[in-house]
Amino acid sequence: MNVVAPASVPASTEPAFSPARQQQVVAALRQILPAHAVLFNDEDTRPYECDGLAAYRQLPMVVVLPETEAQVVAIMQTCRDLQVPIVPRGAGTGLSGGAMPIAAGVVLSTAKFTRVVKLDAAARTATVQPGVRNLAISEAAAAHDLYYAPDPSSQIACTIGGNVAENSGGVHCLKYGLTVHNVLRVRMVTINGEIVELGSEALDAPGLDLLAVFIGSEGMLGVVTEVTVKLIPKPQLARVIMASFDDVVQSGNAVANVIAAGIIPAGLEMMDRTSVRMVEPFVKAGYDTDAAAILLCESDGTSEEVEEEIGRMREVLNASGATRIEVSQTEAERLRFWSGRKNAFPAAGRISPDYYCMDGTIPRKHLARVLLGIAHMENKYGLRCANVFHAGDGNLHPLILFDANRPGELHLAEEFGAEILELCVAVGGTITGEHGVGIEKINSMCVQFSPLERDAFFSVKRAFDTAFLLNPDKAIPTLQRCAEYGRMHVQGGQLKFAELPRF
Ligand SMILES: Cc1cc2nc3c(=O)[nH]c(=O)nc-3n(C[C@H](O)[C@H](O)[C@H](O)COP(=O)(O)OP(=O)(O)OC[C@H]3O[C@@H](n4cnc5c(N)ncnc54)[C@H](O)[C@@H]3O)c2cc1C
Repeated sequence: MNVVAPASVPASTEPAFSPARQQQVVAALRQILPAHAVLFNDEDTRPYECDGLAAYRQLPMVVVLPETEAQVVAIMQTCRDLQVPIVPRGAGTGLSGGAMPIAAGVVLSTAKFTRVVKLDAAARTATVQPGVRNLAISEAAAAHDLYYAPDPSSQIACTIGGNVAENSGGVHCLKYGLTVHNVLRVRMVTINGEIVELGSEALDAPGLDLLAVFIGSEGMLGVVTEVTVKLIPKPQLARVIMASFDDVVQSGNAVANVIAAGIIPAGLEMMDRTSVRMVEPFVKAGYDTDAAAILLCESDGTSEEVEEEIGRMREVLNASGATRIEVSQTEAERLRFWSGRKNAFPAAGRISPDYYCMDGTIPRKHLARVLLGIAHMENKYGLRCANVFHAGDGNLHPLILFDANRPGELHLAEEFGAEILELCVAVGGTITGEHGVGIEKINSMCVQFSPLERDAFFSVKRAFDTAFLLNPDKAIPTLQRCAEYGRMHVQGGQLKFAELPRF
């Protein structure tokens, strides 16, 4: 990447928290919002103190619950004038601390924006407010035999605004694309209160493709107030193969072989033995608990297409060393096979007091290598790790099991997670898959990106958020943070992954 002039990051100038400051901000917000939409007592703001990364908590100074776009505009202008940082928030299911509050800041919740504005079955689009739940879009479209394809496991709760901000993915994204491939248009409000529309309802929009820049920007560029998504026809039929392997290297290679055979399954997921044994007693999905790993490969389409594709996948899996293959015969059985995968996170809670879910992406051909690397780290850190992942996308979700009540174990789990991400970078992958950077992976950004690249990210932020007030201190690390992280990680003079470019 060529960046000509490094942009300097403004030092934080906004006033710190104090009761007087809180009163000032509450009074200003009450000029533009009804009293019930401005929360500031601890018992009212407590539910907003963290997102899905619950190890980190911070009470916000104020929470606002606007109901109209005009109110969002007024909130942005008021906060800009008073130099108050704003953290947008959907359902708070994010796993990287993106919606984590700031002590002297405002949390802007989209909880009241739950309307499906327009469903156009002929054009196969839905226009919805940002607080609409992911699954609610498909429920609204079901009457027309349509659905919204990206399906994060949290889809029952998470909002489309959060999905846009995180560029969320799910099991079906291998075939149907991530959020960025399924959103046509976003309407958002900048920190200056401007209403901006990115993209269009047509397949292309004039000018630079800023929609792609905005999707995945973690609430740092603007507050989403409306989203138009693509809907696609529900497939006539879907069936899933469950294949066992007695060796994780073979299962990793099988994933690469399926894709190399020119097949794009509707879902291609892998679970290792620890995950299978963790989930099976909980959901009774019928998983092979003796297998070193299982793969779930789904095919969807017309019955002829599915039959043909299942046959080809079965051949590839057999040739790749599968020890047992089962194909779902009914819709109920298909859902049962998936239930274990979908419930992997809650199941982790049954076998360990705490778990830390990592998220990184690697080239598929390195799946086996990275799994072996993680097994080595389990010994090094003395912690178990269950591997569940979107194998077809190379998107790993190692669940590091630990007990936060044991002194130092949270820190150890975080070190373990950071080392997994460094390994992802070392094999040519990335530190983010679908959960975003937030505060969780901000140090790992120092490993992935050079100072010039990080400056380019700050320049993009500055172009949208001139005041640097929208979700500041998330996702992009400052030079100082990276310098501190670099110092922390040189232990005994041994720089890890020394071949990677650093400053
Ligand atoms: C059990 C579980 C399973 C999960 N599975 C998946 C999965 O399979 N795939 C996946 O991708 N993720 C998954 N997640 C993570 C999470 O659900 C997604 O990141 C989701 O998109 C977050 O949506 P949310 O509404 O909860 O957003 P929040 O957590 O409230 O916010 C997330 C980010 O979006 C920003 N934001 C929210 N609303 C707006 C808005 N209107 N305008 C601008 N910025 C906004 C916030 O500032 C924050 O940075 C899972 C989480 C859990 C707890």
